[in-house]
Amino acid sequence: MKSAFRDSNLPRVIIIGGGFAGLALVEKLKHKEVQVVLFDKNNFHQFQPLFYQVATSALEPDSIVFPFRKQISGYKNVLFRLAEVEEIQPSTNTIITNKGRVHFDYLVLATGTTTNFFGMDNVESHSLGMKSIRDSLNIRHMMLQNLNKLQSLVMIKNVMP
Ligand SMILES: Cc1cc2nc3c(=O)[nH]c(=O)nc-3n(C[C@H](O)[C@H](O)[C@H](O)COP(=O)(O)OP(=O)(O)OC[C@H]3O[C@@H](n4cnc5c(N)ncnc54)[C@H](O)[C@@H]3O)c2cc1C
Repeated sequence: MKSAFRDSNLPRVIIIGGGFAGLALVEKLKHKEVQVVLFDKNNFHQFQPLFYQVATSALEPDSIVFPFRKQISGYKNVLFRLAEVEEIQPSTNTIITNKGRVHFDYLVLATGTTTNFFGMDNVESHSLGMKSIRDSLNIRHMMLQNLNKLQSLVMIKNVMP
């Protein structure tokens, strides 16, 4: 990643992950004597506790998804970079992303969790996870498709002699 960062003599704090944890730290470090660079593989924060409401059509995705750049606008010492972090090299204080390498003075990992099926392969292959807005929309579409199929079956049954 060619350094598109503003020139700064401040120590650079890289935060990987803009979930609740990463954003809480951004809030703590805004206006402090450090350069904060927030990395996330998405350009938006996802408010996970409301995934259920999106999955059940009670809310639209844009009600629970917020762009990072809007969140940090006005924070002079905070930058956002859209990239997936693939590797960390502690010996050189470098992160390697799908867009290039970046040096850090301090590194914070706030990458969240993944769905744990506790080794139950049958559950994993027959269920849908809900850890992202895409997952929520998948569940919503699957439910609506199944309801449509059911409705079609009922209609066919009603017109059959
Ligand atoms: C459906 C659901 C309902 C929930 N309800 C509640 C509730 O009611 N109350 C409650 O207290 N908690 C609830 N939780 C839990 C809560 O949402 C999580 O504990 C919280 O979001 C974790 O925050 P985090 O910052 O650790 O991780 P996350 O919010 O998961 O954020 C991690 C971020 O890191 C990014 N990331 C991950 N890997 C990389 C990488 N390699 N490179 C770049 N970026 C990366 C992701 O894109 C993401 O933005 C719920 C969770 C779910 C899934």
